[in-house]
Amino acid sequence: MSLIVEKYGGTSVGSIERINAVAEKVSKSHHQGNQMVVVVSAMSGETNRLLDMAKEINPGMPARETDVLVSTGEQVTIALLCMALMRIGHKAKSYTGGQVRIETDGSYGRARIRSIDDSRIKKDLDKGKIIVVAGFQGVDNKGNITTLGRGGSDTSAVALAAALKADECRIYTDVDGVYTADPRIVPEARRMDMVTFEEMLELSSQGAKVLQIRSVEFAGKYKVPLRVLSSFEDGPGTLISYEVDRKMERAVIAGIAHNADEAKLTITGVPDHPGIAHAILGSIAEKMINVDMIIQNIAADETTDFTFTVPRTDYENALAILNKVSVELGARGVTGDNNIAKISVVGVGMRSHTGVADLMFATLAEEGINIKMISTSEIKVSVVIDDKYTELAVRALHKAFKLGEKK
Ligand code: ADP
Ligand code: ASP
Ligand code: MG
Repeated sequence: MSLIVEKYGGTSVGSIERINAVAEKVSKSHHQGNQMVVVVSAMSGETNRLLDMAKEINPGMPARETDVLVSTGEQVTIALLCMALMRIGHKAKSYTGGQVRIETDGSYGRARIRSIDDSRIKKDLDKGKIIVVAGFQGVDNKGNITTLGRGGSDTSAVALAAALKADECRIYTDVDGVYTADPRIVPEARRMDMVTFEEMLELSSQGAKVLQIRSVEFAGKYKVPLRVLSSFEDGPGTLISYEVDRKMERAVIAGIAHNADEAKLTITGVPDHPGIAHAILGSIAEKMINVDMIIQNIAADETTDFTFTVPRTDYENALAILNKVSVELGARGVTGDNNIAKISVVGVGMRSHTGVADLMFATLAEEGINIKMISTSEIKVSVVIDDKYTELAVRALHKAFKLGEKK
C-alpha cells in the first residue's frame, strides 16, 4: 500500500462544488488502495480577505493576532472537505497544524517548520481514515499559532510527505503543471513533463509561485517525489526530478520567472572604507528584512554607490533605516524605487552554454527596455527593469529563447 500526500490550493477548494470535486478525486486515489493525507489551502481569496480586515482594523497588523486570524481560512476547508468525504462513505478526520503538531519557530507570518509529530496521523491512517490537514500553519514551542508565509500550504504538504516518508507528494493547482513561464502572462508557454530540482528551486525563488520556494527546498533535502498537477483535469503534470537526464541537459533554458514584489534602494556617495557593506546591510538584516540583489560601484572620487533589493512589503521600513544609516555614514543620500520587476531566465544548460546573458540583454534592448540591475548565478541570469514592462519582457524573452517550441 502506498502513502500519498495530496495538496489542493485555493482555487481547487474555492467553492462547495470544488470541494466536492476534490473529495471525489481523493476518494478515487483512496479506492486505488492508497493511504491518503490531504493538505488544503483556504478557499481562494480568503487569506487576502482576512488580511484586508486585519489591516483595516489595525494597520500595524499585530503579528501574533494576524496569524491567529489568517490561519482560520484553512480551518474552514479541512472541516468542509472531511464532511464531503464522509458524505460519500469515507472515514475522514481533520487536523489543524497545531493538532498534528507541526512545530515551527516563532517568526509569525514567515515561520519555518522545525519538526512534525506524525504519530497521531499514522494511527488514524492505519484505521483506514483519510487525513485532512490545514496547510500554511503550525504552532511554535509555546503553542502560539504561526503561519508559513504566502503560498505556505505547498510547504506543509511537502514537509508532511517528508515526515511520513510518503511515496509521492502531489500538488494539485489551477494549472496542469510547471510551465516555461507563467501561463497567465505567456499564452504560448509550454508545460514541462519534467523539471530538475535545481531549476525548480531557482524558478520558485525568482518568483514562479506555482510552488513556494520552501516546499522545493524541503523536497530537495528529503528527496520527496514531487509532482505538480491540475485539480481540474487529468494529466501527467510535471515531475520534479532529482536526476539530470541527458535530454534535459540539452535544453539550455528551462523557463522564465518574474517577480514584481520587490523594491530597490540606493545609498549614494558613501565614503569608501572597509565595513560599509556590513554597516548598511547589517542594519537591514537586524530588522529581519531579506536582501536579494546587491550591487556596489566605486566612483572616481573614492565614494561608493550601494544598491540592493528587498521585498516590496518591507520597502518603507528599509527606506527609513537607510536614511538613518546614510546620516551616520556621511553618505550623499538615499533613493528608492518600488516600481521594479525582476525577470530571470533559468536553466541548468547555462553551465555548458554561453551567450544566454547576451541574448537576454539584446532582446530587452530591442524592446526598448532599460536594465537597472543584473545578477547571475550558475544557472540563472536576472535583470531588474521597470515593472510596467514585465509582461512585454517575459513574452519577448520566451520567444527569443524559443521556449514555446517542443523540445
Ligand atoms: P494554488 O492556490 O493552487 O497554490 P497558486 O496561485 O499559488 O495556486 O499557483 C499557481 C499559479 O502559479 C498559476 O495559476 C500560474 O499563474 C502561476 N505560475 C507562475 N509561474 C508559473 C509557471 N512557471 N508554471 C505554472 N504556473 C505558474
Ligand atoms: N492560504 C495561504 C495563502 O493564500 C496559503 C496557501 O494558499 O498556500 O497564501
Ligand atoms: Mg500556491
